[in-house]
Amino acid sequence: MALRTGDQYREGQAKIKHHIYINGKKVEDLDANPNTRTVLDATAKVFDLGMDPQYDEIMNVVSPLIGQKVSRNVHPSRSTRDLEMRAEMGLLTSQKLGTCNYRCVGCDAIHGTASVTYDMDQKLGTEYHKRFTEWLKYIQKNDLAVSGGVMDVKGSRDLRPGEDDPDHYVRVAEKRADGIVLRGAKLHQSGAIGADETLVIPGVAPRKGEEPYAVACAVKNSQEGITYISQYNALSAEREFIGDNSKLGNPLYGQRETCMIVFDNVFVPWERVFVCGETDYAHMLLLRFAKQHRMTCGGSCKAGFMDLIIGATQTLIEYLGLDRAPMIRQQITEMIKVREISYGCTVAAAYKGEEEPKGSGFYLPNDALGNAAKLNTCDGFWEVMKWAGDIAGGFVVTMPSEKDLENPVTKPLIEKYLKTRGSAQDRMRMTRFLQNWIAGLHGVGTWHGAGPRQNQMMMLYRDTDLEKKKQMAKELAGLKG
Ligand SMILES: Cc1cc2nc3c(=O)[nH]c(=O)nc-3n(C[C@H](O)[C@H](O)[C@H](O)COP(=O)(O)OP(=O)(O)OC[C@H]3O[C@@H](n4cnc5c(N)ncnc54)[C@H](O)[C@@H]3O)c2cc1C
Repeated sequence: MALRTGDQYREGQAKIKHHIYINGKKVEDLDANPNTRTVLDATAKVFDLGMDPQYDEIMNVVSPLIGQKVSRNVHPSRSTRDLEMRAEMGLLTSQKLGTCNYRCVGCDAIHGTASVTYDMDQKLGTEYHKRFTEWLKYIQKNDLAVSGGVMDVKGSRDLRPGEDDPDHYVRVAEKRADGIVLRGAKLHQSGAIGADETLVIPGVAPRKGEEPYAVACAVKNSQEGITYISQYNALSAEREFIGDNSKLGNPLYGQRETCMIVFDNVFVPWERVFVCGETDYAHMLLLRFAKQHRMTCGGSCKAGFMDLIIGATQTLIEYLGLDRAPMIRQQITEMIKVREISYGCTVAAAYKGEEEPKGSGFYLPNDALGNAAKLNTCDGFWEVMKWAGDIAGGFVVTMPSEKDLENPVTKPLIEKYLKTRGSAQDRMRMTRFLQNWIAGLHGVGTWHGAGPRQNQMMMLYRDTDLEKKKQMAKELAGLKG
């Protein structure tokens, strides 16, 4: 059973008893709530993509751990080809879903944890990697959906962990003979309500004296003490109210659903604990996860989103009779340029990836190129949204509802006055689809997903050998020293 179908995943989820709240109410059945259901639908689609022979190399890989074909979502890359396929998986799932592959962050957390625990066992003589490998085998054999939690709500950003509320950073509240007790919380957990497990890794670089905050471990999502509070916004209300998905922007898979996850004295047995108190390695884990995640979440995944925006815009260009206007072609080309740079940096980051640490067999992408992908996406996504909004016109925010096409009074008026080269209905449908992208949540979501821009700027500056560049310039300019 190393590969599950979407239906098998759903059957598994139906058995889980979660503690999930949304808009003030407890969710008893994820499938019955129109918003939480989108997480099941999107995740099931990811499982089904793995069953489609045309996507086999992108979605699946033979695991050296269990000798069977497994989902790439639960496989740490073992070559640059693997990294390349990991990046392609980000592109494909975005193109097919128009929302997150909710197994993505977990996949990248698995990359970071595999690499760092290997280092720890080698250098510290610990058993973390052995434990992690056993856990990963179990995940692979059962094809479980893992969400990734780079923890912390953080509170006042100018305070260190423990300086204010000790639980603002996820921590080990108690060490016992049989395991640890976890406390704390995390915002923005993409699709965690529909996962089987969450891989918890540090969201801060803990210093000496901050050992309780240096923790990585795996928890089952149904565990006692875990509570989820789902996001809720205007699009959530619209999905609840409208009662007909076909009239929504992303009808099948909805917006990017995230939640807050709270750990209230959650017990984690030692065999599921992968870092506990080793501050230097906790920092290393954060960095290696970020290196992996920026390549995909900040790069190819958003190239897939941009494909959808570009496709919607080009359709509207044709409906509006703008396809021969040179200025419009220029604008769509600007959008394509941004998309290709993000995608290109992602592929290059994978191609230039390296084994890390040497001898481990685990591969991580090139950091500078991954950060460049994410930075281009941060800035460029707004550009893409700008041009799409310019071309589609004010109708993106002023359009009536497609339901007005069902009212005999308004139907003929809409059909007459909103018709372009495309029918009124086609134009409205595609404009609503575009509205979801450029007048919804995706601007801020794309900026902050995989960390805000300043994080990548710091990494790029820190990792660039400016001395080497100075020497090159001095050599040619004829300067000594
Ligand atoms: C749609 C979406 C989905 C996500 N999914 C996941 C997920 O599945 N798993 C996961 O682990 N994470 C997820 N994230 C989290 C994401 O990766 C970022 O880590 C997170 O959004 C950044 O934290 P924040 O939003 O609290 O912003 P902050 O980190 O607080 O940043 C806000 C601003 O404050 C600045 N800032 C912050 N701290 C300091 C400081 N000490 N000094 C100076 N300036 C500072 C930042 O540069 C930025 O300008 C998701 C985020 C989004 C938006």
